Amino acid sequence: MADKLPNVAVIGLGLIGSSIICATQYFGAAATVTGFDASKEVLLEAEKIGLPVNLVDDIRAAVRDADIIFLAVPVGAMAGVVKKIISNLKPGAILTDTGSTKRSVIDDINPLVLPHISFVPGHPLAGTEFSGPSAGFPTLFKNHYWLLIGDEKANSAISVIKRFCEKLGSMVEVMDANYHDKVLAITSHLPHLIAFTIVGTASDLEHDLKNDVIRFSASGFRDFTRIAASDPTMWRDVFLNNDEAVLEMLERFTEDLAFLQKAINQREGDKLLNLFKRTGEIRRSIIDIGFAKE
Ligand code: NAP
Repeated sequence: MADKLPNVAVIGLGLIGSSIICATQYFGAAATVTGFDASKEVLLEAEKIGLPVNLVDDIRAAVRDADIIFLAVPVGAMAGVVKKIISNLKPGAILTDTGSTKRSVIDDINPLVLPHISFVPGHPLAGTEFSGPSAGFPTLFKNHYWLLIGDEKANSAISVIKRFCEKLGSMVEVMDANYHDKVLAITSHLPHLIAFTIVGTASDLEHDLKNDVIRFSASGFRDFTRIAASDPTMWRDVFLNNDEAVLEMLERFTEDLAFLQKAINQREGDKLLNLFKRTGEIRRSIIDIGFAKE
């Protein structure tokens, strides 16, 4: 017999929350979908664009009948949301978050979870630089990893969320929180930090170089501006909540940058060439496993 479809609630109707809603409807993954956002403007925008969801302006009403609750708010706002809803969840409900950092979210939420509720920390590795309900689309998660944290054998709720995310087109992997934070520090958080820095430096130069930084920006700089246009609140919370792993990676990166600085200074072209050949191989292996869009 087919599984009974769950009632789903989504808290936070930005890029990730609205994409979960669109994907859930598109893939027929839920019986009902209810959405809430703290911002009246966001709720109005969601209504205006016809986001396929039952919109409510009371967070407790949003979660009352839900079997699965997705938290899609900035990392720093997760615990506040859980405090508001936890006593309104029905027995057996599964709470799952989408935050980009995991250790801090788990430490914030675990002490708030009641015995009859399960918590499955999660992180979809999918996104764009856009935010808000209009940014969502149904295939955002298709063919992207969705990482879940914990031990599948010890927590049966993980299997439920795993099946749900797979219905949305994701490939699911279960892993440890600290390992997640280290991997993401280098693959996502550090690249964003570098992009914010480069675009910041360029905008300071802009005045001296008579607007030509923007006018002649070629693809390299343009790619950085795309990444650096990502949501400021979300990224502030990411750096403050994955500080340890980000600072560790930043230290290693700074050492590598100093190595390149010295190589340029001392005209050691072979050192530059060796590194650039190695990085080219990494790019080719990413393309080989089918993740890079040309
Ligand atoms: P977003 O587009 O900025 O949306 C977040 C939404 O949550 C906003 O509408 C925000 O309203 C609302 N919100 C903030 N505090 C709230 C609260 N206490 N209660 C209810 N709603 C609240 O952000 P997003 O990109 O969807 O990110 C959501 C989560 O997914 C974050 O934890 C992020 O780390 C994670 N994530 C993001 C990406 C990505 O690429 N964007 C990828 C993977 C995971 P206001 O705008 O009024 O504050």
